[in-house]
Amino acid sequence: MDIGPHINKFIEDTPQADFRESSIERYSAILDMVLKGLPLGEMLHALILLIEAQKIGTRASVLLLSDDGKRLLFGAAPNLPEEYNNAINGVEIGADVGSCGAAAYTCERVIVEDIEHHPNWTKYKELPLKAGLKSCWSEPIKDSNQKVLGTFAMYYDTVKSPSELDLYLIQEAARLASLAIERSRGMHIQRLSSTIFNSLPISLVITSEDNVVLSANPVFKSLTSTYYANLKLFDVHRFLSHSKAEEVADLFEHLKRGHAWKGELKGLKTDNDIIDIALNVTVIRDTFTQQNCFAWLITDISARKNAEKIISFQTNYDQLTGLSNRKYLFETLQAMKCKNSIDGKKQEFSLMLMDIDHFKQINDTFGHDNGDLVLKLVAQRLLNTIPENVLIARIAADEFALVIPGKMCTESLISMFNNITDELKKHFIIADQDMMLSMSTGLARYPYDADNVEQILNCATQAMYSAKAHGRNCMQFFNQQIQKDAERNAELHLYLKTALIQNEFQLYYQPIVNPFTAQITKAEVLLRWIHDDQFISPDEFIPIAEESGLIVQIGEWVRMQALTSIVAMQKSDFTIPLSINVSTIEFWNTDLQHRFAAYFDVLQQQFGLDVFPYSLLTLEITESLMMTQQDSINQLLTDLRHRGMQISVDDFGTGYSSLSYLVNFPVDQIKIDKSFIQRISSGSRHKSLIEAIVSMSRALDLSIVAEGVETEAELDFIKQQNIDAVQGYYFHKPMPQEAFFDLLAKQAESIARLK
Ligand code: C2E
Ligand code: CA
Ligand code: CA
Repeated sequence: MDIGPHINKFIEDTPQADFRESSIERYSAILDMVLKGLPLGEMLHALILLIEAQKIGTRASVLLLSDDGKRLLFGAAPNLPEEYNNAINGVEIGADVGSCGAAAYTCERVIVEDIEHHPNWTKYKELPLKAGLKSCWSEPIKDSNQKVLGTFAMYYDTVKSPSELDLYLIQEAARLASLAIERSRGMHIQRLSSTIFNSLPISLVITSEDNVVLSANPVFKSLTSTYYANLKLFDVHRFLSHSKAEEVADLFEHLKRGHAWKGELKGLKTDNDIIDIALNVTVIRDTFTQQNCFAWLITDISARKNAEKIISFQTNYDQLTGLSNRKYLFETLQAMKCKNSIDGKKQEFSLMLMDIDHFKQINDTFGHDNGDLVLKLVAQRLLNTIPENVLIARIAADEFALVIPGKMCTESLISMFNNITDELKKHFIIADQDMMLSMSTGLARYPYDADNVEQILNCATQAMYSAKAHGRNCMQFFNQQIQKDAERNAELHLYLKTALIQNEFQLYYQPIVNPFTAQITKAEVLLRWIHDDQFISPDEFIPIAEESGLIVQIGEWVRMQALTSIVAMQKSDFTIPLSINVSTIEFWNTDLQHRFAAYFDVLQQQFGLDVFPYSLLTLEITESLMMTQQDSINQLLTDLRHRGMQISVDDFGTGYSSLSYLVNFPVDQIKIDKSFIQRISSGSRHKSLIEAIVSMSRALDLSIVAEGVETEAELDFIKQQNIDAVQGYYFHKPMPQEAFFDLLAKQAESIARLK
């Protein structure tokens, strides 16, 4: 605050020479205190004593206006009674509130010569009169902007009006008080700012335009001390050297134009310590140098950024494999699609969906921990084989997705798939066991197959299911046929759900005969589904039932029906064993041992059956069940065999099982798949294959059924091999129960006749 004009004005206004002298003394006394930075209360106290000394008989007071400008607070009044001071403290100002309340309110001097009779004092006069105060003149104390800071008042114990000199004195006192108040407030603010500056938990440095440090707070010094030791210059360019160049350029462009800037950048704390910072730069005009200076507010936000990174990792990446997750894949595909709309060009990409074959079995056999290990190894192998620009994500338990950007020819995509397959073919050691993996893969191309992300995922999924249906371990490109098949599957799945309740299933029976005598020795039970008068082949609906788990209920129904047939046969004279197909899926979900006990209960109740006909049942399993190599399944089958049931390996030779499985597995029979029989006429090599299967079966003491025998030539060859059980159109097609029973009855009759 510039106090020169105060003094000049004051001296000019002062009327008398002796008064002027004492006035200058008072002024310099107060000034001295102001410069020493004494507390305000002390200065006001001294001021009052100086005034009272000048004007004997007066008792003076200073009241200060509260920050909200509504009340008067005690400032100094050493010679007024304490009781009076306490009563005044906090009084609300107003146009008719005593002398001081009115002066503060109106910003005008208020002279009350006779407190007792003045309207302003009507409400308050008891107090002053009790203290012996009869008149009170109050001068508002104003700052350099004419804003009221408080009041200076002189009290007398007589009714009294002021002389001209009195008025000068009261005015002088108010000015001196103003000086003391303003100055002490200024210092207070300055001290406050400096305290804030030093205790600010954020780095703050003020620099000139040429990066000279004008002021820096302790946090800034400790942030940069090791690197920028002996801080005279703040090398901003070096500090921000790891930030994005365009952002730094934008910052300096703003500062050049005198504009503030804020954003998030990288700060170089030391040579190898780069931190994330939030930067807020304000431009201040220094009126002294007429140059801009910059206040750099720097917050270390590394912790927050790290937390954000972790959160982003958790939301966008798969915890187990570290690959991207489904959400991230989806967003990436959406973003790739959005790019199109900007330049109008479609950003082409191929989406490969890969599903590990038989992963459920791996999980069930080796446990979930080992299952997780397999997923991690697969992820690693994918990363090893895939080019860097390909995004790999794990989007479901054992499903992986690859997004291959750009237009790729079919050959390149196939070659990429082959590389992956080769890598996966390399053995995995899991739980001390050697294992080989394969994947069923579906591929869809954007924008050719579909032009939105949901649909392209859908296309790839359909293609992947198609790969599974084509024997797994292969890749299928999406095409219209796949689309149709998928629609058909979805439709069948829907109908299949209600097929049991709607009685749409029926059992057919295909006799198995002795090729030499044509006698029916056995029969296979085959499921038929008629929906809406349409025959739907089991080859079509069984996989859907397996996929959806509906096979479990269906299988129950088949077995119960087959057993009922056996009971019916037992009541006639032509009982033969029945062969029932059991899907591998059913072994995961059903405890067959106990199920048979349950069927027995029902049969006992319904038909009074007393022995369960285990010996009249054969379970047809597939090679995939043998592959699981699960002890519990071994035990189950062994147990069922001990009870008299037979176990037959269906479609033998079409699966992937190794012969060693056959040696160790509890089976009685193999059924040579019809594909081998049908190739008999194609040449000697095919015949040799059957011969090999036959001799191996004999060596293992397994009985043989030849399936799908249609022609005389096929039958002849089968006979040459001494195979004593044949199932095929040559003899009989599958037939309804009635026809089958008729056939059996006729056979029983002719046998009886022969006897
Ligand atoms: P599968 O177990 O191999 O059954 C033999 C299939 O070969 C039957 O087809 C039968 O009709 C057919 N077949 C028999 N002899 C000949 C022949 O000489 N020539 C030709 N071309 N085919 C012949 P189907 O009944 O269509 O059954 C197809 C498959 O559906 C079955 O093959 C079996 O895997 C499955 N399946 C049928 N019923 C059931 C069932 O109740 N449960 C389960 N899980 N699967 C079943
Ligand atoms: Ca079968
Ligand atoms: Ca078969």
